Amino acid sequence: TGTPLAGRVAVVSGASSGIGAATALRLAELGASVAVLARRKDRLEELTAAITAAGGTAITIAVDVTGRDAVQDAAAQVADRLGTADLVVNNAGVQLISPITDLRQDDWQRQIDLNITGVMNVIGAFLPHLTTAAEAGRPADLITTSSIAATRILEKFSVYSGTKAYISHLTRLLRVELGPKNIRVATIEPGMVDTELPSHVTDPDAGALMEGLLTEIDPLQPADVAETVAFIAASPRHVNLTEITILPTAQA
Ligand code: NDP
Repeated sequence: TGTPLAGRVAVVSGASSGIGAATALRLAELGASVAVLARRKDRLEELTAAITAAGGTAITIAVDVTGRDAVQDAAAQVADRLGTADLVVNNAGVQLISPITDLRQDDWQRQIDLNITGVMNVIGAFLPHLTTAAEAGRPADLITTSSIAATRILEKFSVYSGTKAYISHLTRLLRVELGPKNIRVATIEPGMVDTELPSHVTDPDAGALMEGLLTEIDPLQPADVAETVAFIAASPRHVNLTEITILPTAQA
């Protein structure tokens, strides 16, 4: 069938641009109801309007995922408006690379707050949903966006890479606990994807480095990563793809 995700209730964080927006679109196209989370409400509303216009179901939840209570509230809203979430795409993240000796401590903190604490807030709020879904015999997926930076040793990437290494290893640890409960746990480690990610870098040299790399190779498009998320979620319930690296072919 063309709608392998019919009946699924998806939540996508960081859905106002880039990988998250493309993922929400694709999951909806494949039949899932989708709750889209991020701070920029206008962007989320454009996305939900596009999904609805195409015959899908989507709701906007404007939320800063670094706030634990706000994410708990988002989970309650999903329960009320769409039902129990069974496909959680924990994707919001920020990359603020710089030389460590610059001591850009605000940038360090922002990355830790979003890429680690934000991810844990989403897990804390939505794991009860996934548990309920799995106990009811439904597929249940927790998919987090990591990066090839989790394993590569790249200059100026220290804090960002540290947060992504945390995500990749967290995935391995969660799988041991959640697999036996029939909750699938996966992480995707993309290489260069053409998104707004480099636009937030505060160090001009590092920003130029990122933009340069994007023009030198034919990067992944957000839809390429979205397709990977869809593939993980549409796999038979006994199949757990756990760690998937996806690179632009020309990226070394
Ligand atoms: P974007 O900058 O386009 O997307 C980031 C998303 O996160 C936006 O929707 C943004 O929305 C959201 N976000 C930022 N801060 C918060 C917050 N406090 N609360 C809620 N949402 C927030 O970049 P990408 O699509 O590239 O990034 C998505 C993920 O992919 C990230 O985890 C990133 O680390 C990872 N990744 C990206 C790669 C790339 O090359 N682009 C490579 C490997 C991994 P808003 O500002 O509206 O809140």
